[in-house]
Amino acid sequence: MSSRFAALKGVEDILPPDSYLRQFIEDKARSVFGSYGFGEIKTPIIEHTDLFLRSIGETSDIVSKEMYTFTDKGGRSITLRPEGTASVVRAYVEHSLAMRPSPQKFYYMGPMFRYERPQKGRQRQFYQIGVEAFGVAEARMDAEVILMLMLHLDRIGLEDLSLELNSIGCGECRPAFKEALRDFFAPKLPELCPDCQRRFETNPLRILDCKVERCIEIRKDAPLVTDYLCGNCRSHFDSLLKLLGVMGVKYTLNPHMVRGLDYYTRTTFEVTTENLGAQKAVAAGGRYDGLVEEFGGPATPAIGFAMGVERLAALLKDKAAPPITDFFVASLGEEAATQALKLASGLRAEGIRGELGYGGSLKSQLRKAGKLGARFAIIIGEDELKSGLLKWKDLKKGESGEVPLAGARKLFA
Ligand code: ATP
Ligand code: MG
Repeated sequence: MSSRFAALKGVEDILPPDSYLRQFIEDKARSVFGSYGFGEIKTPIIEHTDLFLRSIGETSDIVSKEMYTFTDKGGRSITLRPEGTASVVRAYVEHSLAMRPSPQKFYYMGPMFRYERPQKGRQRQFYQIGVEAFGVAEARMDAEVILMLMLHLDRIGLEDLSLELNSIGCGECRPAFKEALRDFFAPKLPELCPDCQRRFETNPLRILDCKVERCIEIRKDAPLVTDYLCGNCRSHFDSLLKLLGVMGVKYTLNPHMVRGLDYYTRTTFEVTTENLGAQKAVAAGGRYDGLVEEFGGPATPAIGFAMGVERLAALLKDKAAPPITDFFVASLGEEAATQALKLASGLRAEGIRGELGYGGSLKSQLRKAGKLGARFAIIIGEDELKSGLLKWKDLKKGESGEVPLAGARKLFA
């Protein structure tokens, strides 16, 4: 008995025409990021598990419940990457990129893996497009990175998005804020979810990111991180807000947004939409000024973001246009089929896109040409072979005519 396989839960095949939409989103990213001087970096999909423990943080949801971790045949603990930043920072340190002229700017695109509950806009394998910029502490770099993100979202045709901004401070101001959070949550501890009771001990900041209804309710009046920023963090944030104002970027301040990864410092941001149901965030990012040093490199300020490609694609669903088919060659008989192959190959070599008819009558092949939305149908039957004149039809304009085999190229002038 034969058995049929199905893809795993929470992962999916991306078929044409959906893959055209993915390509469109990626192509625009390459062109926009290229105009900002970012170069593509391709990092491995598997890494040492420790890389993610050290960067994303052991108390984060990702590390504590969502990682695909396994032991390889050499006994190493390996994890499928749940996000891109940790690998890029590892590569930055491993290849001593701090020795290259600053800033160093990268983008990546590819699949990420998180063992989450699959639902609309939330898969176990999902694609991110992300960027990382190393070496500049100035708020102007934060502004550049945010402008670049907004330009990409604009270029792919997304509207009605909102940009939410916050600053979550640095190693200097964070301890006082954590203390304030502990003071606030201590009397409410029994009412918090078990996860948050643990977070209270390990990292009270994480309580602010909990998705449990009751915890959201309890934290409504929690202290705001922006009230605890040190002078340097405050003036960094003020500079950024001023620059975004000058550039006409609309934003909302969200002092409750702490983000789910431990490595963030200072600026954090999310781009959200009201058109996707519960999964609102299409992109998110922030500064991580301490991570390069944490990975053994020189102290290097850095900032980045990642977009969720499935969520972008869902918003653009109706805009997936497959590329245009320029021609379709229908043929009858072996000799004509060979001539059709020759003709099509010559046209394709010049960048003209087209297909050959396979099997069936000329009529059924022409129906296929219509279904494909081909611009020209070219016919090679017995008569055409004898006369050396091919019949063509412009399926868009309804015109038709004849052209010598060697002159077919002219149809596409
Ligand atoms: P969320 O709050 O939706 O779980 P997150 O804070 O975990 O998002 P990040 O780690 O910042 O997300 O990843 C950046 C973007 O990647 C998100 O804004 C989202 O668009 C996308 N993303 C994250 N997790 C998933 C997933 N499981 N499936 C699809 N897209 C995802
Ligand atoms: Mg998440």
